[in-house]
Amino acid sequence: MKATFKKSMKRDKEIFQRIIKSIEESSLRMTKKRERLLGALITIDRPISAADLRDRAGLPESDLVTVYRTLEAFGSIGIIQKIPLEDSGCLFEITEPHDHHHHFVCRECHQTERIDLCLAKELEEQAQKLGFSEITHLMEVYGLCEDCRPTES
Ligand SMILES: [Zn+2]
Ligand SMILES: [Zn+2]
Repeated sequence: MKATFKKSMKRDKEIFQRIIKSIEESSLRMTKKRERLLGALITIDRPISAADLRDRAGLPESDLVTVYRTLEAFGSIGIIQKIPLEDSGCLFEITEPHDHHHHFVCRECHQTERIDLCLAKELEEQAQKLGFSEITHLMEVYGLCEDCRPTES
């Protein structure tokens, strides 16, 4: 299978500007809380849970629903990638508009490593040939990270 190598995404200013621009161009209503959540997402360089994001943004526990709604709103304009966990729940990561990444995910501590490689192009082409449209894909790789690996005795 031929791999599609993607240029490694550096979380640089240009990307943030494109993220901000797509928010400005959308009809999303930006509240103070949403701005705080966006600020937190941009400074965190890894996928995190909604609860952790709420903490990072300094919002009270009662604002978890707001966090989910905001993530959904940002997701609707293609700047949030949802990373499903193996058991239940998911992590969220801000991305360049309509970009996506795959990850190695530790099933124990939910630490992630970004995979700058997408192997799904051929699969999507096959789906297209079968008459599918609006095709998307998800692919995360789960395991135990070095920190969580059981120690040999
Ligand atoms: Zn781990
Ligand atoms: Zn992909």
